[in-house]
Amino acid sequence: MQENNNRTRTAGKKPVKAKRDSNKLDFKALFNSLGAKKYLVIALSAIMLPLILCFAAIHSRIPEKSVIIPPAETTTAQQASTTVLTDEQLKQLNKDSTEKDGNAKNSNGGKGETTARFMAKIIEPTDEEYWYLSIIGTKYPLPEKYVPSLSPIIEGSSITADSRITEKYRQMYEAAKKDDCILTPYSGYHSYSLQESSYTRKVNFYLNQGLSQEEAESKAGISVLPAGCSEHNAGLAVDIVSASEDFAKTKEYQWLSDHAHEYGFILRYPADKVKITGVDYEPWHWRYVGEEAAKKMKEKNKCLEEYLGIV
Ligand SMILES: [Zn+2]
Repeated sequence: MQENNNRTRTAGKKPVKAKRDSNKLDFKALFNSLGAKKYLVIALSAIMLPLILCFAAIHSRIPEKSVIIPPAETTTAQQASTTVLTDEQLKQLNKDSTEKDGNAKNSNGGKGETTARFMAKIIEPTDEEYWYLSIIGTKYPLPEKYVPSLSPIIEGSSITADSRITEKYRQMYEAAKKDDCILTPYSGYHSYSLQESSYTRKVNFYLNQGLSQEEAESKAGISVLPAGCSEHNAGLAVDIVSASEDFAKTKEYQWLSDHAHEYGFILRYPADKVKITGVDYEPWHWRYVGEEAAKKMKEKNKCLEEYLGIV
């Protein structure tokens, strides 16, 4: 009975005194004071606790998921690899990388190429709209067994090229002729088998000099590209007059340097871009890239890799 009285008294004073004494006393007193309501509290707790735990578990997982989602930059790159660039985008790309080139030189950083690389699109000659900007090389082989539609480069010639560029070559040929320069085609489209035999011959030449297979292939690839890796296999390039460095001393070479861009042709492997193109200087090798790109590249002194932002 006394115990009951004590309990009642304690419960009555609980709100202020219990807090001062100890937490244990506080909770016990509070719990007892609830009477029948304590069963309601227990029931509510039993329902709420799992809900609270679920909520906490869901929230604790969100940061993990956000790490898995690719960053914005990667997403842009993925989109770029499946989207053909418009001329407008290429113009912007060219503008951006030019500005960033300048910044990179100033800061000695080189980060300026990052955006360009992400935006880069490897265009193939099968691309209906941008075929003329296709990039072909050891790193960028042609689609297997690709053969372009062919036409003689100039009337009566047995040398052929992609039919889409021959009209432009003829216009250039006629314009040069008026200036007493004869742009006789020396080589145009190469079949895979022709390219393969030229490459094998070059590799064997280096093997005979005592180089290993790997060394011979690497050295041969600088002057003769493996089958499927040459612009000649795509029919988009023409070797003009000869395949000799002496061609650089001719008036024809001078004429091409001054006017080829007006017809959409560029010197594809310039002497000052060997490190970028990976191919030796070839003054005789002229590639069709379209007039707009050719003019821009000449104006900015950029090779095709730089223009496309894939350096
Ligand atoms: Zn060539």
